[in-house]
Amino acid sequence: MSDVSWSALIGTAGAACSALSFLPQVLKVRRQGGRDLSTGMLALLLAGACFWFAYGMLNQATAVVAANTAVIILVSTVAAMKAVHHSRSSNRERRYRIAIDMDEVMADALAEHLRRYNAAYGTSLTPADVRGRHLEECIPPAHRAAAEAMLDASFFEDLEVFPDCQSVVRELAERYEVFVASAAMDVPCSFDAKYRWLRRHFPFIPPSHIVFCGDKSILDAHYLIDDRSRHFARFKGKPLLFSAPHNAAETAYPRVASWQEVRDHFAGRAAANHAAHSSRMDPPLTEIIPDIPQT
Ligand SMILES: [Mg+2]
Repeated sequence: MSDVSWSALIGTAGAACSALSFLPQVLKVRRQGGRDLSTGMLALLLAGACFWFAYGMLNQATAVVAANTAVIILVSTVAAMKAVHHSRSSNRERRYRIAIDMDEVMADALAEHLRRYNAAYGTSLTPADVRGRHLEECIPPAHRAAAEAMLDASFFEDLEVFPDCQSVVRELAERYEVFVASAAMDVPCSFDAKYRWLRRHFPFIPPSHIVFCGDKSILDAHYLIDDRSRHFARFKGKPLLFSAPHNAAETAYPRVASWQEVRDHFAGRAAANHAAHSSRMDPPLTEIIPDIPQT
C-alpha cells in the first residue's frame, strides 16, 4: 500500500473515532438526561463541526466532511435530548402543588383583631397575651360577640402582609403550582375583601389559584401551609404548621415559624430533588421527594 493510501486510511480512522466518540454520550443522555452537560460546550462543539464541514467541502476532503457530518448529527441529537429532558423535568416540578392559608399565614389578622379590640375596650392585649389560646378565650364573655363582629368585610381589606411572604411565595410560584386556600366560609362576608387583598399584594397569583372553601380536606395538593391544625386532620398531603400564638402548644405537626423558614424548607426539598435526579435514571417525582404522597 502506498504512503498516500496509508495516510488516508489513518486519517479516516481517526476522524471516525472522533465522530463516534459521541455515540456513548448519546446513550448516556438517553438514560440520565444530560443535566450536567454544558449547553455552551455543545454549542461550541456544533459550531466547530460546522466549520470543519465547510472546510472539508471547500478542500474536497471527504474524510473531514464525513466525520463532521456524523459529529453534527450526534451533537444535535444530544442537545435535543437534553432540551426535551429539561422540559419534562420542569413540567414534573410544576405539577408539585402547595396550598397556602391566608389569615395568620400570609396576612397578620391577629394584629388587626387586637388593634380593634384594644381600641374598643381600652385594653393593651398583645400577641404574647393570647399565646396558646384564641382571642375569644382571653376576653370577658360579654365582649365575645362584639369581638367576633369586628371581623366584618372591612377587617380583611388592610391586613399587614407577614415579612418575606411576598418574595417567598413569588419564588415558590415560579417553581411549583401555588394556591391560596382560605377557609373564607368562616366569615362569609370576607370574600370580596380577601380577593381584593390578594390581588393587591399577590398579583402574580392568578384568580384561578385562589380557593375560598370550608373544609380543606377537599384540597388536592402535596403541601398545606396553615396555622390551624384542624385543617390537617383529613388533608391527604403533607401538613406544615405556620406558627401563630394560638397554636404554640401544638406538637403533632412539623412547623415553620416564618417565611424564611418556609423558603429554607422548600430549598431543602429542591436540593434533595436535584441530588436524586443527578444520581438516578429519571425517577418519578414521588421517589425524588419521598414525603410527597402518591397522586
Ligand atoms: Mg389561618
